[in-house]
Amino acid sequence: MKWEENARAAVNHLPFAERRKAVARAETAVLKAGKNIVSPADIEPFLPKPPVIGEYESDGYRLEVCSGGNSCHNRVHQRGEGGETGEDDSPDRLVQGVRALLDNAALGDFLRSHGNGPIRIHQLFRVSVSQCPNACSQPQIRDVGIIAAASPVFTENGCVQCGACENACRENAVWVDADKEASVIDHERCIACGACISVCPTGRIGKGEAGYRVMIGGKLGRHPRLATELPGIYDVEAVLRLLFLCLDEYKQKSTKRKRFADIVVEEKDSLPGRLAAALHEMKTPG
Ligand code: SF4
Ligand code: SF4
Ligand code: SF4
Repeated sequence: MKWEENARAAVNHLPFAERRKAVARAETAVLKAGKNIVSPADIEPFLPKPPVIGEYESDGYRLEVCSGGNSCHNRVHQRGEGGETGEDDSPDRLVQGVRALLDNAALGDFLRSHGNGPIRIHQLFRVSVSQCPNACSQPQIRDVGIIAAASPVFTENGCVQCGACENACRENAVWVDADKEASVIDHERCIACGACISVCPTGRIGKGEAGYRVMIGGKLGRHPRLATELPGIYDVEAVLRLLFLCLDEYKQKSTKRKRFADIVVEEKDSLPGRLAAALHEMKTPG
């Protein structure tokens, strides 16, 4: 099959697995159409669609999404069985939901009613989404930080002691135990990056809990503070519920444009528990 130069250029930058998929689909479609050359128009429908990435500043808030798009090989939700995450938990759906919640919160009106003068950048409510624990969009210093996560679990498949998982793990959280003649995982050290899941050739390491880690109350400025991580990994619905609750807490407790991080500190003994209880209530039928 021949390729026009522009069509070839459009796929060349893709990671190997995505390129192979796009090329195969485009060539099948071209053959079906009775042609023998792939043009840019033929490949376009099969190129991965970029998720909503970048930085959005709107009235009263700023949302940052890491630049991993659909191509960064570190993205957690491309890893493991099934490839990309299901549509329900995709970063695209998450980001769209986050934007909708932030828009609905009318944070610009809220800030204007709680202070004089223009809204300054450090007064914006800031949310950050990263598609892996490298955290390029700096979720640890945002009001609400969200990091994609996939926890490894052992399946019934055997371990051939190849050491691929050990080599892939930058946290020294998985290794081959010579006595057990199999790999072992230290979940205390594991940060749910999913790297070991994608390299295991036998499928002994499978994808366990997958979704997002959530942290609240980070900020820079005169009194910087790293966000407090809430325990667990949450699906998109739960992440959006947590954000909704955080916005509600912020609007109830913030006067004179007080930062959410300061509220998190003041409420540190009760807020995480209240958020957990609200999530539990959401998941409990009836
Ligand atoms: S946070 Fe991870 S997925 Fe996103 S751009 Fe950085 S390395 Fe890539
Ligand atoms: S998921 Fe955990 S054990 Fe696996 S590579 Fe990442 S940090 Fe290591
Ligand atoms: S990558 Fe899989 S098969 Fe290889 S040592 Fe790790 S668990 Fe065993």
